[in-house]
Amino acid sequence: MSHAAPTDREDTTGPPPARPAPEQAEWDDWRWHMRKRVNTVEKAREWINLTEGEERAIAGVAGRYRWSITPYYASLMDPDDPLCPVRQQAVPAADELLEFPGAEVDPVGDTLYRRTNRVVHKYPDRVILLVTEACPVYCRHCTRKFHTTDLQGSYFRDDEGGAYDEDLRYISEHPEIRDVLLTGGDPLSYQDGRLEEIVAGLRAIPSVEIIRIGSRFPVLLPQRITEELCTMLSRYHPVWLNTHFNHPKEITPESAAAVDRLLRHGIPVGNQTVLLRGINDDVATMRRLMTELLRIRVRPYYLYHCDNVTGVAHFMTSVEKGWEIMEGLQGHITGFGVPQYVLTTKIGKIPVSRPSFTETPDGGLLLRNFRGQELHVDATTHPITETDAR
Ligand SMILES: *Cc1c(COP(=O)(O)O)cnc(C)c1O
Ligand code: SF4
Repeated sequence: MSHAAPTDREDTTGPPPARPAPEQAEWDDWRWHMRKRVNTVEKAREWINLTEGEERAIAGVAGRYRWSITPYYASLMDPDDPLCPVRQQAVPAADELLEFPGAEVDPVGDTLYRRTNRVVHKYPDRVILLVTEACPVYCRHCTRKFHTTDLQGSYFRDDEGGAYDEDLRYISEHPEIRDVLLTGGDPLSYQDGRLEEIVAGLRAIPSVEIIRIGSRFPVLLPQRITEELCTMLSRYHPVWLNTHFNHPKEITPESAAAVDRLLRHGIPVGNQTVLLRGINDDVATMRRLMTELLRIRVRPYYLYHCDNVTGVAHFMTSVEKGWEIMEGLQGHITGFGVPQYVLTTKIGKIPVSRPSFTETPDGGLLLRNFRGQELHVDATTHPITETDAR
């Protein structure tokens, strides 16, 4: 499906940014977007009316944090509103350089669980494989910012041309690993051929049952999700993909078409959202996001609390905000539109939604629904313990 390149835009308050109009064929070609990424003030001005603060921030983060925006994702930014949810995820902010109490570069402890250059083994039956540190857009809120975006500190050897022998050997020597999640960075930054070598290498290990890909390309550059890519991946089923939509504005005809291509090739698509201050930290936005995801057949999976990551902490909300959002979803929309709210920590992902019941002294439960109505059930109808059940 093709969608008109945004050569004309609705009239806005400022002068329209000047930019050469791309041909449709260029707009539809993901390599064109990768080549034309926005990473200078001049290029950014072709899309948005930069504020002085943004210009200062761009200069300020230079040498510390990478930045880069695909023309596709830039086209979703409001040219005049610096608080635009897409713009805030992509354009550097001065707050990235502030020091926040408790902020760490790796609060989730990937480095503690690293077993080879690329394998992080934190859970019993599954690992992540850090394929690359490259991404089409360097999201300002990236939880692995020190790995993807920090110019001073990548913690693994990003030998992109390098062999995966050591990593694949570790996985094959640990047959309890039945689930491998390719992540990074964004694994789909690789060309199809290179990606296929990795996926084929994993598929050749008999104990690997499922292969998962974590990729934000459906959101940042959906043109990457080509028929050829999907056909290649479908040769290695079961393959699952999780993506990362944070705001309903990111759901476009192009992103819906990318999801549709994945699904038609038998690749289920899930979504992980990060709860971000000033971007999606309100019930109405989240409810719209989750229901719009269901319309394009994406299954909400996790809602991540924003970790206290160096360079990211300004996006952090309270846990109470997360509860308010979860309680604004649960019961209001279908259960499979409700993600699981988790804190990612050095001891793993911890579900932290508030329970919708309390135990009562008589061995029963006091249940509370999404409308705030309460119902008491006792041990005769809903025994809690095995003793009461007999
Ligand atoms: C998130 C994560 C996984 C996958 O977790 P699921 O809950 O299975 O999606 C695996 N390994 C690491 C290190 C992770 O951070
Ligand atoms: S695409 Fe994912 S890994 Fe890459 S910068 Fe964005 S959040 Fe981080």
